Amino acid sequence: MDMDVDVTVVGAGPTGLVAAGELARRGRRVVVLDSAPAPFPGPRGNGIQPRTLEVLDPLGVTDRLVALGTFGLPFRQYGTDGTIRERDRHPELTPTPDRPFAQPMIIPQWRTTQVLRERLAEFGGAVEQNARVVGVEQDEDGVTAVLDDGRRVRSRYLVGADGGSSTVRRVLGVGFAGETHDEVRMVLAEVELDGLDRDHWHQFDLLGAGGPGFLSLCPMPACPTWALGLRSPDPDVRADEATLRAVVDDIRPRVRLRTIGWCSTWRLNVRMVDRFRVDRVFLAGDAAHVHSPAGGQGLNTGVQDAVNLGWKLAAVLDGAEETLLDTYEAERKPVAEAVIGFSGELTRRVLDSGAGGYADRPAALARQGLQLDLSYRTDPDAPGLRPGDRAPDAPLGDTTLFLLRRRADWTVLAFDGAADPVEGAQVLDADALDVDGHLRRTYEPVPGERVLIRPDGHLGWRGTGAVPVIGTTSALGYAG
Ligand SMILES: Cc1cc2nc3c(=O)[nH]c(=O)nc-3n(C[C@H](O)[C@H](O)[C@H](O)COP(=O)(O)OP(=O)(O)OC[C@H]3O[C@@H](n4cnc5c(N)ncnc54)[C@H](O)[C@@H]3O)c2cc1C
Repeated sequence: MDMDVDVTVVGAGPTGLVAAGELARRGRRVVVLDSAPAPFPGPRGNGIQPRTLEVLDPLGVTDRLVALGTFGLPFRQYGTDGTIRERDRHPELTPTPDRPFAQPMIIPQWRTTQVLRERLAEFGGAVEQNARVVGVEQDEDGVTAVLDDGRRVRSRYLVGADGGSSTVRRVLGVGFAGETHDEVRMVLAEVELDGLDRDHWHQFDLLGAGGPGFLSLCPMPACPTWALGLRSPDPDVRADEATLRAVVDDIRPRVRLRTIGWCSTWRLNVRMVDRFRVDRVFLAGDAAHVHSPAGGQGLNTGVQDAVNLGWKLAAVLDGAEETLLDTYEAERKPVAEAVIGFSGELTRRVLDSGAGGYADRPAALARQGLQLDLSYRTDPDAPGLRPGDRAPDAPLGDTTLFLLRRRADWTVLAFDGAADPVEGAQVLDADALDVDGHLRRTYEPVPGERVLIRPDGHLGWRGTGAVPVIGTTSALGYAG
């Protein structure tokens, strides 16, 4: 398979598949290399945050994922003293005109990657299984991925999305500083069971010699399985059938495990790379940052890395300035740092107080997890919507801004007769489209203002002067 493509993506997890999809849908030649013989079968990143659903929409997968997922599954928590508590997950959060998704969605990770693979194939992208990358060589013109069987894949750029144990990261010598907490372990499994309703996420507090633990059983939508997570009070817990049956036999109400499929142990690693880029190679997803699963951020952060990087690589391959690629690390590294802090805070709550500690998290922490406030703005204190902020949705007659954004990478919202054409962008004439005034109320333009929205759904620029040249860093709000 010696081949020559625009971009090699190493790793067919959610991060790699989104990076590849973003490139393939823009007509770039991309290959995805994955060492595993088959797609990952287990449950892991089963919580998709609202912002991820938004940024995946232009790729054409959000509607498909939503059709297979479930929103707002309430918790049912069983105390060791026999008490049962019901908790809505985010009762205060409902969709609004500027925010079509307000709650996290549950969908098994294997289903998400299945949908992403199908979409990639529709754009002509391919995943090579049994393709283990062991080396990366780069020069001025390109980069070569070297496989363990001697095959070589040459490309202009390479994305290392090969997970927490990333080979790409290791062979590049990129530091991955942080901590491993061997004492914080979980057993994860995909099971089928009888005895619980599928309208709740069931969480059982457990007590044992090693302190508090919990058993989490979350029904997976559109399939018969459940995601099992066991934080055992026993520090030497094993990921095997006997262990799971013994724990489940002890809980009330009675639950019968019918089948135990994929089963594994997970231990807490909190680490981040010291750089996201080495020349023509970019690190993304778990290859760049790992942390606690509390709060369901890992897959989401990786997918948003991939969206941020994907359009920039496509633009540079199309002739945009190389400096555009420097903004990948500048924008995504602070996000990864914030996610590590956030998931660490939630982990402390769970370790101190069990599943209830998570459900009792303050509203501000719950909101942060939705990732809707995530911004790349460089001026944290400036009032109103600024470059770098999320571009909110707005109903526009019988359509919406998000639906219209599917038609083009770059969108200009033009207010008060400022709808002159802009090369490389679609211009939406707010005077004609904004029949109910949602856009104006949300974006609060000054007279004659134009607002530029980037391909990843963040504001790029706003003003009454000339719109910056599309694809330059000025169009992202950075000094030109
Ligand atoms: C218990 C648990 C619960 C979680 N819950 C959530 C959640 O609710 N929400 C959320 O957002 N995240 C969650 N996560 C995190 C989420 O699962 C990960 O962040 C996500 O899988 C990372 O995706 P990725 O594509 O970056 O890496 P991975 O999914 O790890 O994919 C990496 C791919 O690279 C391949 N690969 C590895 N080495 C090589 C090589 N040398 N050559 C070629 N291919 C290679 C692997 O086969 C694999 O397919 C959870 C994680 C755990 C453990």
